[in-house]
Amino acid sequence: MSIHAQERLNVDAGELAKFGSLAHQWWDPESDMFGPLHRMNPLRLAHIERLSGGLAGKRAIDVGCGGGILAESMALAGAQVTGIDLAEKSLKVAMLHRLESGVEVDYRLVSAEDAASEEPGAYDVVTCMEMLEHVPDAASTVRACAVLAKPGGLVVFSTLNRNAKSFLFAIVGAEYVLRLLPRGTHEYARFVTPSELAAHCRASGLAMADITGLSYNPLTKTFALGKDAGVNYFLAARKD
Ligand code: SAH
Repeated sequence: MSIHAQERLNVDAGELAKFGSLAHQWWDPESDMFGPLHRMNPLRLAHIERLSGGLAGKRAIDVGCGGGILAESMALAGAQVTGIDLAEKSLKVAMLHRLESGVEVDYRLVSAEDAASEEPGAYDVVTCMEMLEHVPDAASTVRACAVLAKPGGLVVFSTLNRNAKSFLFAIVGAEYVLRLLPRGTHEYARFVTPSELAAHCRASGLAMADITGLSYNPLTKTFALGKDAGVNYFLAARKD
């Protein structure tokens, strides 16, 4: 991908290559890179169901869907789901998995920004999980998610907070001590604080609805939702 295409697309080619090179592992619940996403998925699905008042019959788009872990689960919950990502290899894995599982998801290789100009106001629910911390311009992604939502629609982000604790837990702890994730998975400078994300939302016509923390217990190796948004968190907003 040329530098110009990258700028236009708000994408970091190195980040896409990182996910693409491990794409074969997307559906391996024991893999270093994607295992944590499998373990947190039931929690985030329940959280989205709660905030949206149920996914059945809703139109949902998962921005940065990767291999389709959340996208498939939202479809199983009864939503009509579109999944978009710019890592071609990951989308191919998502499509292969769809063949095996028989779960209907419409996968597209398109940026959030381009999808937004193609289908403004089309979705009841827009999800963008663990992706903002991998893009050069998070505000642009937030804007695109806002445009994709119907008036009154729900937009849910999850990302990593930026502070001493998240540096210690998400990078030192997760990548070096516990080896929960491969080294180099995350770049601290790209982490987004809840107040930055809330400001991006407000600037995009989204009204804050909820902030919920997601914490990891290394002893039980389980995730839990709660008040502590110090490391990983969900921020939900509604389109005005
Ligand atoms: N949302 C999924 C995957 C998270 S991993 C989940 O939580 O299960 C981050 C994903 O973001 C990867 O699939 C990667 O390819 C994608 N990504 C990174 N930068 C992107 C960009 N600029 N546009 C679209 N997708 C991007």
